[in-house]
Amino acid sequence: MDKKQEVNKGLMLPVMEAFYTIQGEGVHTGTPAYFIRLGGCDVGCVWCDVKESWEAEKWPVSTIEEIVQGALAYPGRMVVITGGEPLMYDLGPLTKLLKEKGFTINIETSGAHPFSGTFDWVCFSPKKFKEPHPSIYVQANELKVVIFHKSDFEFAEKHAVLVNDNCHKLLQPEWSRSTQHLQSIIDYVKFHPDWKISLQTHKFMDIP
Ligand code: SF4
Repeated sequence: MDKKQEVNKGLMLPVMEAFYTIQGEGVHTGTPAYFIRLGGCDVGCVWCDVKESWEAEKWPVSTIEEIVQGALAYPGRMVVITGGEPLMYDLGPLTKLLKEKGFTINIETSGAHPFSGTFDWVCFSPKKFKEPHPSIYVQANELKVVIFHKSDFEFAEKHAVLVNDNCHKLLQPEWSRSTQHLQSIIDYVKFHPDWKISLQTHKFMDIP
């Protein structure tokens, strides 16, 4: 079987980078975690801070065994699968292997592709640039909406009515415009208390 077929089956995946750090944003802020950043994204956010991830072909493919071996080298047992857009791939085999090794498995996704894999925590961050696939709404534990423009509050509410009742709802200022939008996010959350604020604390800490 060639590499392309292995990737199609989720047995090999293009890995842009993998590193042990602190989860900087969302509900699990402050938790040590091993990040697996898969290459490839077709969402095209104008403010994307990992544009180099977009072309999957640029990144070497690794077997899921090699990926899990990398995670096992560190003491933390939380893994965050991110991208790029990780749901471009079948994440069933990777998440099964990670679970067998005792990891808590989180994903960060725009939800733009059909859901796959088994996760302990699903952070769904919808993007205006590509509609989410309907399979994400029942899976989301966390709805995290990046505020880049004032119209993003309305966009956030549009998705909030579609997620399940237990889903945590977070608004996060886009980093380059955080000064511009932070006050309006604070005001919004004070008067819409079902939302909370998420900040990219790893950027304050200057860690990946
Ligand atoms: S979904 Fe994520 S990786 Fe893809 S373009 Fe948007 S911010 Fe970048």
